Amino acid sequence: MSQDRDVIVIGAGAAGLMCAYNAGYRGRDVLVLDNAKKAGRKVLISGGGRCNFTNNNIDTKAFICNNSHFVKSALSRFTAWDFIDLIERHGVAFHERDHGQLFCDDSAKDIVDMLHTECEWAGVKIQLRTDILSIDKDAEGLFHLTTNQGDYRCKSLVVATGGLSMPKLGATPYGYKVAQQFGLDIVETKAGLVPFTLHKEDKEKYAELSGISLPVRITTADGTSFQEALLFTHRGLSGPSVLQVSSYWNPGEAISIDLLPDASILTILQSLTESHPNQALKTALSQVLPKRLVAIFYQDELLPDCSLKQLMHKDLAAIEIQIHQWQVKPNGTEGYRTAEVTLGGVDTDALSSKTMEAKSVSGLYFIGEVVDVSGWLGGYNFQWAWSSGWSAGQFV
Ligand SMILES: Cc1cc2nc3c(=O)[nH]c(=O)nc-3n(C[C@H](O)[C@H](O)[C@H](O)COP(=O)(O)OP(=O)(O)OC[C@H]3O[C@@H](n4cnc5c(N)ncnc54)[C@H](O)[C@@H]3O)c2cc1C
Repeated sequence: MSQDRDVIVIGAGAAGLMCAYNAGYRGRDVLVLDNAKKAGRKVLISGGGRCNFTNNNIDTKAFICNNSHFVKSALSRFTAWDFIDLIERHGVAFHERDHGQLFCDDSAKDIVDMLHTECEWAGVKIQLRTDILSIDKDAEGLFHLTTNQGDYRCKSLVVATGGLSMPKLGATPYGYKVAQQFGLDIVETKAGLVPFTLHKEDKEKYAELSGISLPVRITTADGTSFQEALLFTHRGLSGPSVLQVSSYWNPGEAISIDLLPDASILTILQSLTESHPNQALKTALSQVLPKRLVAIFYQDELLPDCSLKQLMHKDLAAIEIQIHQWQVKPNGTEGYRTAEVTLGGVDTDALSSKTMEAKSVSGLYFIGEVVDVSGWLGGYNFQWAWSSGWSAGQFV
């Protein structure tokens, strides 16, 4: 015997819980199903345990999607200020970091607790450890779900199963399978906001810089650039600037790294040449860049081994390129194992940007990361989860 519900949400993550309680407040009888042991696991580990839950500068340009207009409706109907208002009502303390990023003062658990409280107030039931075995739609438009915990029927089915990143936290491709079952297209998925790996020779060479972090500007082949920190790791390159550009990088392409984004190496050298003409170029460069990185450039004979006063025009041109446009060709990325998001997903052309409902399947909704929408690092991905979840919650 099936249990009847108005709404079933698959996925008790950021988007699913947001949608569920909003639908609950509209008087809908809502059940959330999740195969995990705990709700909101990604929220709990996000932002180093402090959840970067949104950003003060939410802008549609910070979202990657095949249809750049798709995100506008949801983001303008449930904004960062609406989420801030919500957490303030729950007394969650937060602070702003660089680039408008907002984090909890204490713990990401505050956000999960808040979502649980709202679900409870709205009468939403959350059922964990539930494997969905099949989904069918009958002639009357009802969805039938068979699960390891019983069978269910609902009028509205919301898929909020997230992306593929961090499979050890329970990420599955299930949402894409549901989309395909109902004839929706999937934009090819790949890991985003992810560290780069290096070819063997580069990996060995730069491994000794592991732990060094410096401010840089990185530009991809399509001209996208981010100015944030670069971190050398024993596996390759990481840090916010790398994670950001990884979402715009294609295999085989080189990235261009400006190692002194706020200064001109030529101006620095000109002034040092006047004050210390006999100083070795290597010594001069080591004053403005990590000494070990400069040593590697010398090891590779990329810079002239001379004093400042001996520098010729051609040397200066080569130095400028090496410091301001250092070319690095990543071998690949660390993939879904460490990625923060999944690029691609359910094709937005198949969804209403206002309600998140599938245009061709009434009653079927997709929200959050399972949709072909990915944000920059900095709270944008959670804002998409809140906004798309809230939007669907008004219509299911
Ligand atoms: C390490 C890390 C740190 C991050 N930090 C930030 C940050 O600080 N700020 C930010 O904006 N974004 C951050 N993100 C991205 C952010 O976590 C996601 O974009 C966001 O959680 C997506 O929300 P969602 O509800 O769509 O999916 P999720 O939060 O992933 O929720 C999906 C839910 O669906 C469930 N599920 C999956 N498959 C099934 C299935 N077959 N059956 C039933 N249930 C299923 C999962 O168990 C999960 O509970 C981070 C991601 C990672 C991996």
